[in-house]
Amino acid sequence: MKSQIKKIENYIPEEPIESVKKRLGLDKLVRLSANENPFGTSPKVKEAILNWNFGEENRYPDGYANDLRNKIADFIGVVPEKLVFGVGLDEIITMISRIFLEAGDEVILSKPTFSEYALHAQIEGAKVIEVPCLPENGHYDFEGFLKQITDKTKVIWICNPNNPTGTYEDVDTLKTFFDSVPDNILILLDEAYIHYVTKTKNASFLSELENYKNVMLLRTFSKAYGLANYRVGYAVMDEKLANYMQAVRLPYNLNSLAQVAAIAALSDQDFVNNSVEKTQIERDNWENFFKENKIKYYVSQANFIFFNYPDANKLADELLKNGYQIRRGLLKNWLRVTIGSEKDGDNLRSIILKNKEI
Ligand SMILES: *Cc1c(COP(=O)(O)O)cnc(C)c1O
Repeated sequence: MKSQIKKIENYIPEEPIESVKKRLGLDKLVRLSANENPFGTSPKVKEAILNWNFGEENRYPDGYANDLRNKIADFIGVVPEKLVFGVGLDEIITMISRIFLEAGDEVILSKPTFSEYALHAQIEGAKVIEVPCLPENGHYDFEGFLKQITDKTKVIWICNPNNPTGTYEDVDTLKTFFDSVPDNILILLDEAYIHYVTKTKNASFLSELENYKNVMLLRTFSKAYGLANYRVGYAVMDEKLANYMQAVRLPYNLNSLAQVAAIAALSDQDFVNNSVEKTQIERDNWENFFKENKIKYYVSQANFIFFNYPDANKLADELLKNGYQIRRGLLKNWLRVTIGSEKDGDNLRSIILKNKEI
C-alpha cells in the first residue's frame, strides 16, 4: 500500500436527505449544503431519458461520447479533440493528479478551496502548499502563489469562482498571473460555477485558452445544469495533453444515460439562464441582508455565499432543526449557504436574525 494513504481522512459525502430527516425527526429538509441546483433540472432531461433506446443495456456505452463531445465542442467553439470527459469533475481531478503528480512533487492551491484537489495530491504523495485567500475580500493572493513556486511545483489549482468563497477573478487578472507562471507548470482552472458570474458577459477564460498551452479548463453539468446525479464533467485542453488524459481514462466511464441526459441539458439553455437569473436576485437579497446586519461575507459570483458568524456551529444546528442544511467546517466560524428559492431565503434570514438577537 502507498504509505501516504494511511494518513488520509475519508471524504464524507452528503448524507441522503431522507436519512437526515429520519435521524433528526424532521418533516422537511431543504439541502443547501452541496451547491446543487435548487431549481431542479431541465424537463428535457426526463424526456430524453424516457426516449432512450431501451434494450441496449447489454452493450457498452460509446466510450468516446461522440455525440455529447461534438455538441459541446460546437457549443463552446473548440475542436472535439480538446475535450476529455469524466464521471463528474471528481474523476477529472483524480485523473489529472494520477497523471501529473509523483511523490515529492508540489501542488499550490488557495485556502479555503475545493477539498478534492488536496485529497488527490495527497494520494499521489505530493506536497500540498496552501496560500490563504486575502482575508478582507476572500480573493486569491496571486503574489502569494508566485512566492511559493519552486523547482518541484508541478500543478497549480485555481477555482473560479472559488468554492467556498464565491469570489470571481476576471480574465485579465488571470492572464497576468498565468503569464508569470513558468510554462512547465500545469494550471488547472476549475470553472464549475462560471455560469453564475453576472458582473461581466465574458466571464470564462475559454477564449484565451488557445494562448496558454499549460492551462486546462474544467466544467461540470452538476451545478447550473442541475445534473449532479448523472455525473458528467469535462476538461478543455491542448490536444497533446488530451492524449495523455485519454490514455489513462477508463474506456467506458460515462454510461449512455449520462450522455443522453447531458445532451438534453445542454440543449436547454433557457433552463440554465433562468436558474442563473433567480440565483442572482436571491444572491442580492443575501448580500443586502448581510450588509444591513453587519455580518461579514465575501461578494459572491457563484450559487452560494460564504459568511462569518461568531458561533457558526450553533447557528448551523439551529437552521438544521428548522429544516435547513447548510455547509460548515470549511473555515472556522464561516458557513456556506447554497442560494435557493426566495421563500427559503426569507425563512433562513429570519431564523438567523432571531438567533442573532438572543
Ligand atoms: C461541485 C464542484 C465540482 C463538480 O463536481 P462533479 O464531480 O462534477 O459533480 C468541481 N469543482 C468544484 C469547485 C465544485 O464545487
